[in-house]
Amino acid sequence: MTIQENVLRIREEMARACARAGRPEQEVRLLAATKLNSADRVQEAIRAGVDICGENRVQELQQKLKENAYEGCPLHFIGHLQRNKAKHLVGQVDLIQSVDSVELLEILNRLAAEKGIRQEILMEVNIGGETAKSGVAPEALDAFAARMEDYPHLLLRGFMTIPPISNENGGNLRYFAKMYQLYVDIKAKKYDNNSIDCLSMGMSDDFADAIMEGATMIRVGTFIFGSRQYVKN
Ligand SMILES: *Cc1c(COP(=O)(O)O)cnc(C)c1O
Repeated sequence: MTIQENVLRIREEMARACARAGRPEQEVRLLAATKLNSADRVQEAIRAGVDICGENRVQELQQKLKENAYEGCPLHFIGHLQRNKAKHLVGQVDLIQSVDSVELLEILNRLAAEKGIRQEILMEVNIGGETAKSGVAPEALDAFAARMEDYPHLLLRGFMTIPPISNENGGNLRYFAKMYQLYVDIKAKKYDNNSIDCLSMGMSDDFADAIMEGATMIRVGTFIFGSRQYVKN
């Protein structure tokens, strides 16, 4: 299967999920998770019609920017963000999806102020409460959204989550539902410096379930590019 065929197949599955959920297709955007794929392959995915590219590592993102890999497509950062790498990211991407601490909010706001820009962000939520996973605790999310007024050079657009690994069909439905409820509740509060319209959840194995439960963006890697070859160091 080519990248183009894969994207077509995903679009069909997205349309079916939207139809089942009674949602318009335009409500859900397709982000291609491009990690470990070459600039050529990223360009192929863009030509096939993905809406957004998402990269995980700052260094890989910088390299691919040099190669014009993302040309013609919005670019998001979706990986874990280390504080000392933040300066390479602010102003380089349309959206940082993985903000998970007050410390990072402070740093990003300062960097965006220095550049005279407003950086759009999502908060990453640890919806399964897993100890080994990054992300804000669901209980703490509302307080984060409420204090966005302290960061005028950032704009909160919504939330991103990676639920626990599940081995059963529909295993993550309850996490997606819980995330959607938080999204709706916080959006309704209309806090200052919030412009919430993005709920990023669902990957290759479970994006149809995520759409059923209200995702507005799915992040797909394997189903677009095939399985990733991890190089051992
Ligand atoms: C790699 C990655 C994805 C895509 O995962 P697949 O299972 O390959 O579709 C989605 N989100 C994040 C944050 C990722 O790192």
